[in-house]
Amino acid sequence: MAAALTPPSFWLATCGDDLTPRPPLGANVQCDVAIVGAGYTGLWTAYHLTRIDPALRVVVVEREIAGWGASGRNGGWCSALFAASWQRVAAQHGMDGVLRLRRALERTVDDVGDWCRQHAVDAHFAKGGTLTLARGAAQVARERSSVNSDQRYGGTDTKRLDSTQARARLAAAGVDGAAFTPHCAAVQPARLVRGLARVVEAAGVRIHERTPASAIESGLVRTPNGTVRAEVVVRATEGYTCELRGEERTLIPLWSLVLATEPLPAPVWEQLGWRARETVTDGRHLLVYAQRTADDRIVLGGRGAPYRFRSGTAGAAGHRRTHERLEHELRALFPAAADATITHRWGGVLGVPRDWMPSVGYDRSRGIAWAGGYVGDGVGCSALAGRTLADLITGQETDETTLPWVGHRWSRWEPEPVRWLGVRGMTAAMAVADRRERRTGRPSRLAGLLDRVVDG
Ligand SMILES: Cc1cc2nc3c(=O)[nH]c(=O)nc-3n(C[C@H](O)[C@H](O)[C@H](O)COP(=O)(O)OP(=O)(O)OC[C@H]3O[C@@H](n4cnc5c(N)ncnc54)[C@H](O)[C@@H]3O)c2cc1C
Repeated sequence: MAAALTPPSFWLATCGDDLTPRPPLGANVQCDVAIVGAGYTGLWTAYHLTRIDPALRVVVVEREIAGWGASGRNGGWCSALFAASWQRVAAQHGMDGVLRLRRALERTVDDVGDWCRQHAVDAHFAKGGTLTLARGAAQVARERSSVNSDQRYGGTDTKRLDSTQARARLAAAGVDGAAFTPHCAAVQPARLVRGLARVVEAAGVRIHERTPASAIESGLVRTPNGTVRAEVVVRATEGYTCELRGEERTLIPLWSLVLATEPLPAPVWEQLGWRARETVTDGRHLLVYAQRTADDRIVLGGRGAPYRFRSGTAGAAGHRRTHERLEHELRALFPAAADATITHRWGGVLGVPRDWMPSVGYDRSRGIAWAGGYVGDGVGCSALAGRTLADLITGQETDETTLPWVGHRWSRWEPEPVRWLGVRGMTAAMAVADRRERRTGRPSRLAGLLDRVVDG
């Protein structure tokens, strides 16, 4: 039997599974749907396929083990966030498109919680909403306009909190206000993805781990020790998509790094509050995100680890300078936890399309389906994507199959070295913009320019 793997994240290390790989594919097989990648996208798709038609033969091939990618490493925000701006979605699909997509994503957060209860998967789901703290004058100004804009685009539950209201929820440092949305749950991400794998396996899906796909073709997945022939092949490789032949410029892998403190004692929580386990961020440009875990740790992650030349997906998970910066941010943001020991540090890649617009689609003529490009908002989006893919593949016409992101085609990223220069340059510019805003108290014009570049 294969040995259990060393867990690449705090979440996988504490999810309760021993992480022994399931048997790899060892022969040629035939099935109805072959899925490459056992993260949320692949497994939600498998789940909904077997829910719609229990007779379908579904085979999942996974290079490592279920949850090895971003799904077992993320910040655990199961949110209704969508990477492309609502303004842009409205320009292309009208307000009706925006509202339908928003409501579908909001429902999905609750669906994930219901699914966990129904299948006895304890993913530590706690729907406490998201607090976006405004710290300093520049963030307060930006927050006011972003809440107004969000409300204009259907964010009926988004509201502003003044500093007293915000601090009553979370006594972080320098809080001058916050935006609040109820549409987010904190989860233990690895318990969710590992639970999904167990549930789909029980429904008859075959999962082959330690089985890398070397090529995805119409009706065919090639792996070292056998091919999977299928009517439909689903590409569910998100941040790793660039490693597949022909997909080198489809999505770039951006790194996000994370750390976890030891469990913190009651007096720290008495000072901080944070009783509803709200997911937390602030208004800076170079994103940080945090949650209070079910066992009373703070998990905080953020962007800024360097993009690797030619979209490398190895090596930056341990980028020391980024982890040090995040540790500094954690202690600065939560002074009550300033002395906390950091017990775990890790990172992972997420998939970013050139136009920042997630996509789910099925090219019936080639028998190839895909979903991804969630840009760091994939916990909720992937659950909706999996459901939608299953509907598309089985030919159901549902509300989901006509949502604005369905069938969206990505333009390709620039070749290297232009890509490397552009992505590195943007990351550096965001850090500069944050520093300037802290110094001057005024919203950075540089960041405004970057937002326009990202949003086309
Ligand atoms: C550090 C970090 C923090 C994040 N925080 C959040 C958050 O708080 N909230 C949120 O909504 N989103 C977050 N995200 C994004 C979110 O985790 C992802 O969008 C989501 O998990 C994507 O799921 P997936 O199944 O599409 O991809 P993955 O989970 O990456 O799964 C892809 C799978 O495909 C496998 N694979 C790749 N290539 C091959 C191949 N050739 N053959 C076989 N298998 C292959 C990989 O091993 C992997 O298991 C974060 C991401 C990271 C990295």
